[in-house]
Amino acid sequence: MTKVTQEIDLYKKLLEKYKEIVLLNNITMNIYWDMDTYMPEKGVEQRSEELAIISGLIHEKTIDPEIGALLEEIKANENYEKLTPVEKRNIYLFQRDYDRNTKIPKELVEAISKQSALGNSIWKKAFAESDYELFKPELIKIFKLMKKFANYLDPSKDPYDVLLDLNEPGFTREIVDGLFEELRDGLKPLIKAIVNSPKQPDYSLIERACPKDIQEKLSKELAKVTNYDLNAGRIDETVHPFTTGYYDDVRVTTNYHLDDFSSSFFSVLHEIGHALYEQYLPQKHKYQPVGYSCSNGFHESQSRFIENFIGRSSEFWQYFLPKLKEITGGIFEDVELDPFVRAINRVIPSKIRVEADPVTYSMHVIIRHEIEKDLFAGKISFDDLPQIWNSKMKEYLGMDIENDAEGLLQDVHWSGGGFSSFPSYAIGNIIDGQLLWKMDQEIPDWRKDIEKGDLNKVLDWLKTKVHQMGNLYDPLELVKKITGEELSTKYYLNYLRKEYSRIYELK
Ligand code: ZN
Repeated sequence: MTKVTQEIDLYKKLLEKYKEIVLLNNITMNIYWDMDTYMPEKGVEQRSEELAIISGLIHEKTIDPEIGALLEEIKANENYEKLTPVEKRNIYLFQRDYDRNTKIPKELVEAISKQSALGNSIWKKAFAESDYELFKPELIKIFKLMKKFANYLDPSKDPYDVLLDLNEPGFTREIVDGLFEELRDGLKPLIKAIVNSPKQPDYSLIERACPKDIQEKLSKELAKVTNYDLNAGRIDETVHPFTTGYYDDVRVTTNYHLDDFSSSFFSVLHEIGHALYEQYLPQKHKYQPVGYSCSNGFHESQSRFIENFIGRSSEFWQYFLPKLKEITGGIFEDVELDPFVRAINRVIPSKIRVEADPVTYSMHVIIRHEIEKDLFAGKISFDDLPQIWNSKMKEYLGMDIENDAEGLLQDVHWSGGGFSSFPSYAIGNIIDGQLLWKMDQEIPDWRKDIEKGDLNKVLDWLKTKVHQMGNLYDPLELVKKITGEELSTKYYLNYLRKEYSRIYELK
């Protein structure tokens, strides 16, 4: 056997190992989906045993020493340099995963998972009783464990940077700080001008009783207009909407509010944006490390692009308002395009992140990030967190927070150690602004198509530029590859200023 074929055999063997892990992970995703949708109440214990055995199997597969040996052998082989960039990227990504999985002692993995479960149940109670003091000891425990976790991964780096890198490879606290400071300083005067504008939209145009079966029809119509393939997907109901899946089986969920159709309408568009990314990943890279999305931030950029840039645009509603009237019967018969578009773009500062509008949303993320990084830097104490949260909410959004449930405790992430996972939400917005700027240059007439309900050009553009790239590049590289420029907040801020100056008739 020649060296070259030997090399190919090793690479093939490595990818076979990877495929097994992907398949097992997919099984787990389906199990979780079922738990959130249709699993009967009594099934819970049986299910937790099923989950335990499968996560044990996955763990064994991911730390298999043969993977490490194969990776070493391939990289030491004299033909390594002859591999294609895609093959090399696969090896790099698999090595990165393997290192992450093998560097952490089993005891620490178990301690984190135990503390997450405990922390989550206590968070629920603390949230219900709006009592930060109840949650604080658990928060401190998981914080220490996650710091340890970061130290095992890379003791030479700031723990916050290590954790951030898991969600957004290549980003550091410094980069996020720079972007978020610009974004914060740009948003502050805009939000102030909007809130003080005498031209406030009439939201009663939206808040009208709309039965569930009609809203379900709207969801189906949205799937059609966005090319979300329902033969490779589904739309079901859960308390919190989400997307889960891989290539040919990507499912979304939503939550129908009977007195405000827009809540489910935009959440369906949002989740479809996520789902399209997964459905349009390159088939040729299925079951390979490069056959995944780029980062959480990029994923969020895709959902928000469809939800906000498309779904809240006046061009889209030029097409969709007559459809809405037709599908909903007489409910919106009297509604006219312009006031309706203004209403669905209403900006109203909220205490709750997940209820925030597109303009104020990033502020919630920025506040969380500022607190997280100061915690990791040891600049603030756990005792002061609620008060710091409340004063930032007052300063940035003018909100008076009256209790911990509507303040610091509103998000579940920290209870499971999800520090550094928040920046991705706002990074998605920033990426979006830059993508839109580039798309405007490359397909300047796209808005004319949207007016006719034809999203093909836009979807093709996102597919080619983002989805089909899979995980070939880290997020900052991919932004540069697509737009030719480093990631910057200016395009997103420009978009917001232009859009909302029109809606609120700002000077
Ligand atoms: Zn999302």
